[in-house]
Amino acid sequence: MPDSTRSRYDVVVVGGGHNGLTAAAYAARGGRSVLVLERADHVGGAAVSARPFAGVDARLSRYSYLVSLLPRRVVEELGLPITLKRRRWSSYTPVGEGGLLVDSQDAAATRTAFRRLTGSDADFEAWGRFYAMTAEVARRLAPTLTEPLLPRSEVRDRVVDGVGEDAWRALFEEPLGDVLRRTFADDVVRGVAATDGLIGTFADVDEPSLRQNRCFLYHVIGNGTGDWDVPVGGMGAVSGALHDAAVAAGATIVTSATVTAVDPGSSGAEVAWTDADGRARGVAAGHVLAGCAPAELERLLGGEPPAPGPEGAQLKVNMLLTRLPRLRDDVDPVAAFSGTLHVNESLTQLEDAHAQAAAGRIPDLPPSEIYCHTLTDRTILGPALAGTDAQTITLFGLHMPARLFRTDPDGARDRALRATLASLDSVLAEPIEDVLALDADGAPCLEVRTPVDLEGDVGLPGGHIFHRDLSWPFAESDADAGRWGVETEHPRVLLAGAGARRGGGVSGIPGRAAAMAVLSA
Ligand SMILES: Cc1cc2nc3c(=O)[nH]c(=O)nc-3n(C[C@H](O)[C@H](O)[C@H](O)COP(=O)(O)OP(=O)(O)OC[C@H]3O[C@@H](n4cnc5c(N)ncnc54)[C@H](O)[C@@H]3O)c2cc1C
Repeated sequence: MPDSTRSRYDVVVVGGGHNGLTAAAYAARGGRSVLVLERADHVGGAAVSARPFAGVDARLSRYSYLVSLLPRRVVEELGLPITLKRRRWSSYTPVGEGGLLVDSQDAAATRTAFRRLTGSDADFEAWGRFYAMTAEVARRLAPTLTEPLLPRSEVRDRVVDGVGEDAWRALFEEPLGDVLRRTFADDVVRGVAATDGLIGTFADVDEPSLRQNRCFLYHVIGNGTGDWDVPVGGMGAVSGALHDAAVAAGATIVTSATVTAVDPGSSGAEVAWTDADGRARGVAAGHVLAGCAPAELERLLGGEPPAPGPEGAQLKVNMLLTRLPRLRDDVDPVAAFSGTLHVNESLTQLEDAHAQAAAGRIPDLPPSEIYCHTLTDRTILGPALAGTDAQTITLFGLHMPARLFRTDPDGARDRALRATLASLDSVLAEPIEDVLALDADGAPCLEVRTPVDLEGDVGLPGGHIFHRDLSWPFAESDADAGRWGVETEHPRVLLAGAGARRGGGVSGIPGRAAAMAVLSA
């Protein structure tokens, strides 16, 4: 990557995560000179692929793994050569010696599975109605995400007129917990639905702040369907395509380049940075687009970090297996592992785990969800593995807040991992350790990252996967309507990453919004 830079650019992007790259691509295609400064020795931020296991040719999506929120509009406008594959099964939740398999292509089989678990058709019918409602809301909301912010009242009208008053209240006004208890009778069914509100958000389902509702909303509106698809080639393929689009449009991207300060100025900003050799450098910028987290931008501007700061709450475990493990149920492991496999995620189990973590303890029975990339896309495996039974799986553990890992990061990581694997084993017919592949050094192919690890690896404040809690996808004040949701108190400094309004997840939405704000200035 180039390291020769000019003394001034129209746009300097702090951070080459996928959003920084998106901002760079749009701004450069709009005719602006663009410099991206990325602290790591590679781009992509939390959207990368890596070979984490010594001597093993398996390129795993190291952090984020599924795509829903990336608008087709962005893919088309930037001409991104990426392929997203739909998963055949939606989810499987083991319960005792049975389980709930939600088959997106076989309603009759799904009805039978609900009946077996709950004893009647009531929750199956309720499930259909509930997700038909979220899909209708998604259809109306998704197109607004790539436009300037609508006022809250207009979004409300769209939902109420098109879907109904109940839909607005359920998603935007009442705590998710109340809605799920009212909608479903079964504790497991309630929990499966609740998880979308808790991924990356350390919250109780009943919180009056409705953080859990905002998280839920972002999980069900992506591209107007809420489908979560597998990026062929892994998440690195998505960031790679965005990188190539930015470079093709003329942006200069420098890695191992740490921004150390931003002076917002009045006629133009100044950005101080350190290059790969540790030399202090400076560059003038018409606009600074912060692809880093808002807390990091605040630090670069010389301000006080927010208190309390953002806090992530997930344990990420990447594994390579010699084969899929057997389940207690007679379900086909291919069906069970193709979608999202929910481990100990009934609503009661989620509430218990949250209460224990909030009290400062690693949960006794950590809830988690598992996703297997290679059942949908085997291109991430090298030739030695491609023709074998090997599978990569990713475990995303909930309710593991950063506070649990601050005082004894290594010890707490070990304890969290042991509790999480024991929780997983409780739903398998054989221990997961028995099917873990070994790397070239004879060590198990298992990589575990806590929120504190992610703070160090990727610069996520508190390990928060969305940089901070998600915002509603509309203007909450009249002054913000018609803006892009990326503005700061400094006219020449804009947010361009996950912490912007309508940020969070692999979407490119805030990166595009920041570029649009510059191009329309
Ligand atoms: C474990 C995990 C699983 C996830 N799973 C999913 C998923 O399946 N699907 C999904 O949609 N989302 C998922 N997410 C969330 C998603 O990955 C992030 O919200 C998104 O990638 C954020 O992108 P970004 O470009 O805004 O920021 P980041 O990816 O955080 O990139 C910011 C970049 O800025 C750089 N930077 C920071 N400070 C400086 C500085 N001072 N100077 C220079 N560079 C700097 C960082 O090094 C980083 O590269 C997950 C996240 C994690 C951590």
